[in-house]
Amino acid sequence: MCCDLKRRFLLLYATQKGQAKAIAEEIWQQANAHGFEADMHCISEMDKYNLETEKDPVVIIISTTGTGDPPDTARKFVKKIQDTTLPPHHFAHLQYGLLGLGDSEYTFFCNGGKTVDRRLQELGAQHFYDTGLADDCVGLELVVDPWIDGLWLALREALLLQKEKEGMSSNVDAVPSSLSAASHVVHELSLSSEVQNLKLEDEGTRSSDVLSQKSVDINIVPSARDSEPSLVHSVPPVSQSALSIPALPPEYIEVQFQDTHGENPHLSSLISEGATFEVPITKAVQLTREDAIKTALLLELDIADTVFDYQPGDAFCVVCPNNASEVEELLQILGLSEKGEYFVCVKVKQDTKKKGAVHPQHIPERSTLRFIITWCLEIRAIPKKAFLRALVECTSDVGEKRRLQELCSRQGASEYTRFIRDCNICLLDLLHAFPSCKPSLNLLIEHLPKLQARYYSVSSSNLYQPGKLWFVFNIVEFPACFARPVSRKGVCTGWLAELVAPLLHPHRSILAAKGGKPSTEKISIFARPNNTFHLPADPSVPIIMVGPGTGISPFIGFLQHRQKLREEHTDWEFGETWVFFGCRHQDRDYLFKQLRSFLENGTLTHLKVCFSRDSSTAEVAPPKYVQDVIRLYAKDVARILLKERGYFYVCGDKKGMADGVSDAVVDILSMEMEVDRLEAMKILATLREAKRYLQDVWS
Ligand code: FAD
Repeated sequence: MCCDLKRRFLLLYATQKGQAKAIAEEIWQQANAHGFEADMHCISEMDKYNLETEKDPVVIIISTTGTGDPPDTARKFVKKIQDTTLPPHHFAHLQYGLLGLGDSEYTFFCNGGKTVDRRLQELGAQHFYDTGLADDCVGLELVVDPWIDGLWLALREALLLQKEKEGMSSNVDAVPSSLSAASHVVHELSLSSEVQNLKLEDEGTRSSDVLSQKSVDINIVPSARDSEPSLVHSVPPVSQSALSIPALPPEYIEVQFQDTHGENPHLSSLISEGATFEVPITKAVQLTREDAIKTALLLELDIADTVFDYQPGDAFCVVCPNNASEVEELLQILGLSEKGEYFVCVKVKQDTKKKGAVHPQHIPERSTLRFIITWCLEIRAIPKKAFLRALVECTSDVGEKRRLQELCSRQGASEYTRFIRDCNICLLDLLHAFPSCKPSLNLLIEHLPKLQARYYSVSSSNLYQPGKLWFVFNIVEFPACFARPVSRKGVCTGWLAELVAPLLHPHRSILAAKGGKPSTEKISIFARPNNTFHLPADPSVPIIMVGPGTGISPFIGFLQHRQKLREEHTDWEFGETWVFFGCRHQDRDYLFKQLRSFLENGTLTHLKVCFSRDSSTAEVAPPKYVQDVIRLYAKDVARILLKERGYFYVCGDKKGMADGVSDAVVDILSMEMEVDRLEAMKILATLREAKRYLQDVWS
């Protein structure tokens, strides 16, 4: 039918960790129920769609990776649209809506989406729907859910507009004539009523279920807590609401256990990003005192027997397993303890209703159950609502079932945020809280994301100590909270800390330490080079490095490199080098007191430190944070940046710090150049653009 054809839209996703793909799949699934047909493709499948000739609306879901890059799957696409020879009307025929995914803890929030959006605009494409930018830091669903809700109306309007253009507006059904075709308007009122009225059947699968049952007895309802909701307990109005819950995601994986012998695949087969190297840990040093609030460790890897190469300022990735006791606990709860060493054969179900179901790339075709849960699945991931929805079907207790429905429902959205997202609840926590929930292994494979390797900044110079690689990290600690009675350590940092516990060196000996206990521990790493966070090619250019806490890590590599260059090239001219370092206490977490040796040998010209928690008897309290210290050297900072074309580097583990530092620099520029703040911000933007103000910030 003509109308059916006209209700098609092109749905493209660019995913790094699978989130953008999962959202696109949800849109694809809902599309049918809304009378649309989504033609869905990964953005990398450029032979399956053609934006140059596309007439129907285009919906793009795109995440961000690394330091504000589009996902690897979008690289070719981005390169193609960034071709500078394309004319400004190249995509003038195109109507599109874009949903960017990102994490505001990182500096270039949603930059993958923003880059594509900006470029499509430059090439004349029109928005038929406002761009959504979803923030994983506070919960993607806060933006994603309403964005998807609004999409259907916007699509209808876009199609209406398209038909009007084609002079066929009378053919579009179900669009009230009162609806303006103005593409940017999202009618919230009509939308919410549309959502509430949603009760759609999709080939036997409910596309969005409206549950009419009212309050049911929840198994744990102690009277004192009657008025207080919790993870397992609900109170009015949620407990008495009819619920709109997400569609039940179709199952698509089947697993078969085989009691045979064999070898698990090599870890390198799990990594699609490039070659992995298994390297020994040759040294481990605790940089903080026992009474410091955080524990920072420095590890040394021996890369001499590999072709792994790096420059100071690069990052690399560590392949890490899940915590062994959590793996055992999960196996036990799933009733699969006996089968840990069984080989699992994972296949896509022949008759699945899931569109484009493919074998998950991160699950080997054949490996043991323990291997899959240990190395492949992020079992600590916060369960998405679709996962909760699927878990409802595996829960026998009626009260638990209802609570899980509430937590994934529209009505329970704020409770999902409060009791699941904000508490970082993971699958194990849920299985403890809802003991009658017994999911099958295939459900875990379908819903748990890939266990990601973790990034670390290199803290050494290959020139200064050939064949060695240093990195520094804080052991991440998650204290117990009311929703989770046990404390935990970060997946990777907790594992590394346990691994190196037997070889820990005392703090003092870091730069001098030689040898140490020989270690047999090896870890798998792969390269993730940074394109910009490097020393300037010309050593005479002055540099300012700002690195509080573990943010000092890459600058140790910079300084080692400079020291070696100075030794090797006595006739070269070297620019000023400034370090601004900060920590809580001078005697507890001053990670690299050896910075002073760089000062003494002339590699470092200025070292400015501050301690945020040390008390002072001075009449004027000393500055607490690096940004406060930077302000004291306003003239030098302005001179280096403006007159001497110097470089300014910021590295650290908190967005707040990076923002504080850039605020200080804006104030300095404004003061020293006698311009207003807005003008100073523009100057800073130019410095960023020229890659002379560089940030490497992680959470
Ligand atoms: P995870 O288990 O992944 O937990 C980390 C985050 O998950 C927490 O911060 C929190 O947001 C959330 N979380 C998970 N569970 C809970 C819970 N129960 N309660 C509260 N929050 C929870 N780090 C360094 O230390 N040094 C470096 O040099 C460094 N360089 C980096 C460079 C880049 C380019 C990037 C992107 C990151 C870098 N990081 C660095 C960060 C590092 O990659 C890891 O994120 C960090 O070490 C934590 O990993 P983890 O597996 O131990 O923690």
